[in-house]
Amino acid sequence: MKPDTLSESGYRVTEDADLSRRSSFRVPAHTEWLIEIDDASALPAVFELGAVQRSPLLILGEGSNVLLTRDWPGVVLAPVQRGIRILEDDGEHALVRVEAGENWNDFVHWSLGKGFSGLENLILIPGSVGAAPIQNIGAYGVEVREFVETVQAFDRQNGRIVRLTNADCAFAYRDSLFKREPDRYLVCAVEFRLPRRRELRLDYAGVREELAAMKIDAPSHAAVADAVMRLRLRKLPNPAVIGNAGSFFKNPVVSTAQAGDLQRAHPTLPSWPAEYGQRKLSAAWLVEAAGFKGLREGDAGVSERHALVLVNHGAATGEQIWTLAQRIMDGVRARFGIRIEPEPRIV
Ligand SMILES: Cc1cc2nc3c(=O)[nH]c(=O)nc-3n(C[C@H](O)[C@H](O)[C@H](O)COP(=O)(O)OP(=O)(O)OC[C@H]3O[C@@H](n4cnc5c(N)ncnc54)[C@H](O)[C@@H]3O)c2cc1C
Repeated sequence: MKPDTLSESGYRVTEDADLSRRSSFRVPAHTEWLIEIDDASALPAVFELGAVQRSPLLILGEGSNVLLTRDWPGVVLAPVQRGIRILEDDGEHALVRVEAGENWNDFVHWSLGKGFSGLENLILIPGSVGAAPIQNIGAYGVEVREFVETVQAFDRQNGRIVRLTNADCAFAYRDSLFKREPDRYLVCAVEFRLPRRRELRLDYAGVREELAAMKIDAPSHAAVADAVMRLRLRKLPNPAVIGNAGSFFKNPVVSTAQAGDLQRAHPTLPSWPAEYGQRKLSAAWLVEAAGFKGLREGDAGVSERHALVLVNHGAATGEQIWTLAQRIMDGVRARFGIRIEPEPRIV
């Protein structure tokens, strides 16, 4: 039987909703209630609903950074409101407001089409704009925090919409205030300050080489976007073909002394500078060297192309994928004494 959907002004409620197509791992899961929010002004009314007040809440964007290991015993809130608006433009920079339900990659294409620069390294990251600040998405040497001016969010603790500055968001590597207080803030919109002439970032492994292979020696922002797309399409399995959530493990950050000890014992282990004088180690190298690349347990597996990507070969459950992930974390710890942590939210 098809679930019932009730449409109210600014939101839609579905009872007993299927979530299996709402996460990029495509694992089976249901929620008691799904509420899709088309208009942020409906949020106070949504939070007054009895089911929302009584039940556990989970905020879900496009589901490309969550692993659902069970049915959700409560309400899933999905902000789907759309819209991109230029609020100010002085010719050098523009302030652009983007609603949470816009697709991130569509926004990157929009920004490049309008002649803005900076987001080209972040092209092809799946997911919604509303989720981008949650883990401070990053790729190819750039993080979204470099562009976030403010985040507008519904604060469940005091029942109103608040405007958080970049500093309030406390961004760090794959981390922010929002990740530390899950589901307290529902992001409604993000305001980005986008430059027109930003220096290119080409130093992340592979970008210069890809541009050289494309026979481009004076790259434009669009050419860097093309190079990053080519790299990503080659390296990462497409979630439309095989369920996955991109990198499953964060690169561990360790002291310079610990990185030095490990690199003396394992000279091929890559590392990069991190905040506070620490070093970030390659989680992909650690997982591969611990022997997990390409491993398969039933339909849960580790990609053969990229050791950091866990995949659903078809009928894996979220629980099976999580069991495999824990085995990998234990294996890396036993072999190298390093704790690696999952990047997606485990639900
Ligand atoms: C193939 C692949 C490649 C990837 N590559 C990268 C990469 O290069 N860099 C990178 O950083 N990430 C990457 N990711 C992870 C993912 O794309 C990002 O984390 C993305 O921002 C998730 O967006 P989403 O809308 O799917 O969020 P979801 O997966 O739905 O949610 C992620 C988290 O954000 C919360 N959330 C979502 N929307 C909101 C909102 N509006 N308000 C409050 N909380 C919210 C959820 O509760 C959850 O905790 C990749 C994923 C895949 C599948």
